[in-house]
Amino acid sequence: MIKLERNFIPDFFTRMDLQSLTQEFKDKGTAVWQHPEVKSACMKLSDGKCSFCEVKLEEASTYNEIEHFKDKNTFPDDVIRWENLLPSCRHCNGSKQRHNVVMNPIMNPCNDLPSEHLYMRGYRIKGKTDLGTTTVDVLNFNHREHKFIPRCKAGEVIDSSIDDAIEKLNWFLENPSTRRKNILMNLVEAILDECQKKSPFSAVSATMLHRSVEYAHLRESMQMRNLWTHYMQELHDESLSLTLQSIR
Ligand SMILES: [Zn+2]
Repeated sequence: MIKLERNFIPDFFTRMDLQSLTQEFKDKGTAVWQHPEVKSACMKLSDGKCSFCEVKLEEASTYNEIEHFKDKNTFPDDVIRWENLLPSCRHCNGSKQRHNVVMNPIMNPCNDLPSEHLYMRGYRIKGKTDLGTTTVDVLNFNHREHKFIPRCKAGEVIDSSIDDAIEKLNWFLENPSTRRKNILMNLVEAILDECQKKSPFSAVSATMLHRSVEYAHLRESMQMRNLWTHYMQELHDESLSLTLQSIR
């Protein structure tokens, strides 16, 4: 999970008569939130990812759903309130079901800073606070197939790419050609890119990157040889802001 910035109000929510839509839901149960504009606004909010587990929602198996943070049956007045809508994968949405977030709060990715409430032990996500623990339990955050294994795969991509980059650095140092340099630079940028907000499982990838001693060594070696660019440093700093405390 990463912090999301709900810093825009989609036109739909200023243009439409939200009171009438709310009433329509109350009277007939119409899925008034199922509108292409609402869906695209939700996708924009989270860069097309589940706002809880960060899986990419365009993948068919993840199924894109609009999640009512305060569930629509208990809180029908919030059924079409922009602040109550979050994009969610089928698994997170299904795990949360009608959990009452007012009686028993869970983290809201638009309000709560994940690093304050969650940490990683290996590839398992754990609660640091009661709010974090409830969130992990309610969203079934360590479900083997849907959460844990995809998280391991994302972390492994980072780890193996770092090893690859170290090999490319040594290969460049043996014979410093422009071609070898470009291959190294492109690879390092691609690794850092996987650890940015827009990428799936970015909190996991960023956490794995910053806890890697091999990455620290790679970065230091590149800095010493003036191969570490401002752009790489920007990506490095950005990714650092997404990390969770990590215990092996
Ligand atoms: Zn999810």
